[in-house]
Amino acid sequence: MIPDRVAGALRAADRPVCAYVYDTAALRERATAVRSALPGSALLLYAVKANGHPAVAGTLACSVDGLEVASGGELAGALAAGTGLPDAVRIAFSGPGKTDAELAAAVAAGATINVESELELRRLAHVAGGRSARIALRVNRSSAALPGTHQMTGTATQFGIDEASLVEVAALAGELPGIELAGLHLHAVSNNLDAAAHARFVRDAMSWAAGTGLPLQELNVGGGFGVDYTGARRFDLAALRAGLAGLPAGGPRLVFEIGRYLAAAAGWYAAEVLDLKRTHGRWYAVLRGGTHHFRLPAAWGYSHPFAVLPMAGWGYPFGRPEVAGVELDAAGELCTPRDVLCRGQRVDRVRVGDILVFGNAGAYGWDISHHDFLRHPYPQMIVV
Ligand SMILES: *Cc1c(COP(=O)(O)O)cnc(C)c1O
Repeated sequence: MIPDRVAGALRAADRPVCAYVYDTAALRERATAVRSALPGSALLLYAVKANGHPAVAGTLACSVDGLEVASGGELAGALAAGTGLPDAVRIAFSGPGKTDAELAAAVAAGATINVESELELRRLAHVAGGRSARIALRVNRSSAALPGTHQMTGTATQFGIDEASLVEVAALAGELPGIELAGLHLHAVSNNLDAAAHARFVRDAMSWAAGTGLPLQELNVGGGFGVDYTGARRFDLAALRAGLAGLPAGGPRLVFEIGRYLAAAAGWYAAEVLDLKRTHGRWYAVLRGGTHHFRLPAAWGYSHPFAVLPMAGWGYPFGRPEVAGVELDAAGELCTPRDVLCRGQRVDRVRVGDILVFGNAGAYGWDISHHDFLRHPYPQMIVV
């Protein structure tokens, strides 16, 4: 369950071990697998917010057709990831609350900007000052929900332009100087595990988009391919491929912007066991790490499974504590009872000094766990 090169890297790490391990070969394999499930003409972008580590974004920038970013900070990272590549990285810029500075940076970078409201469209044209700005209008459709843990369209949310206003906003885009309406953007959900339903969503989006009568170069269907953190379900790429086979030729080019599914399986969070104890009948491993590094299980309220990497050696003159055949809670080093990554996982043997390794931690792991999520600027600290 722990690949050899990951185990090797962890055995060589500073003790007590606390690390994320990212495998660039696994990222490339994943990109190839996703690509082969999409229609040949489709564009595949990587959604940087899932993991903005320079090596991860840089590897995927070379393995897919471009990057989707959602802040000025991510845009700067994407431009850096493209440094040295033969062509400029294709960039799509999203996010429900873009500042004027971010819009200006996106225009300067030649990004396709996914516009989320009428006001944002007006501000973009104002900031662009006649320079050309390529846009897609993000639409919150009146129906077309997908299964998944995070619904964003087909329901009331802060995202996109309500379908009822689309005609009006598209007409405004046609009048504003510099604005080039290239497409529509329909990112609808995150963490959908039903690939056949995803294919139906894409087909439905295509026929709906054709029905708008807008001259579209691109139809961005967003991301949302899911990862089953606690069970054995898989987002079935073969089912996606089958569901997308034989799409009618012509029409706008499909754009996918995938985050979680490209990065999750290529990352591991590892934390060394500092202590083992039993209180009120439950066994706890206390880790060099916790939910401040790997917030996903706490944010979503589930237990993230781990594997045990046994570590040899014990430098103390007293016995090495261990548990065998028990149910163990994996708790962090923070002074709060909420700092728990996993509850009640059955373990064969765990000793103090062994490493608990949490797989599927390459997406929304470190990146959502701190104030650099999405790489927006920090709040000011105003003391009065
Ligand atoms: C987060 C996001 C994505 C990627 O979503 P995943 O669920 O990680 O695939 C794509 N597009 C937009 C606009 C996003 O906000």
